[in-house]
Amino acid sequence: MSNAHRSRKSPPPPSCELREEERPTCVGREGVVMAGPDGREQRVCPAHAAALWLTDPTLRFTAKTRPEAIAAVMRHAFGGSR
Ligand SMILES: [Zn+2]
Repeated sequence: MSNAHRSRKSPPPPSCELREEERPTCVGREGVVMAGPDGREQRVCPAHAAALWLTDPTLRFTAKTRPEAIAAVMRHAFGGSR
């Protein structure tokens, strides 16, 4: 099957939305829910949340994000491990 789907309409998987095989930075576990100015939410892992947040400062953590998950994002964002 080499037919790539251009638009993915399937419901979000229970893990990180941005998980990609080529992106080993993904820790795969969801736990962070970020929302943009338009209120659109993204469920991502802490590693991807850090990447998104550094790229787009308008994103914020929603109340669904646990403090420990935010702490993990900060570790990724400000260069702890790796
Ligand atoms: Zn991820």
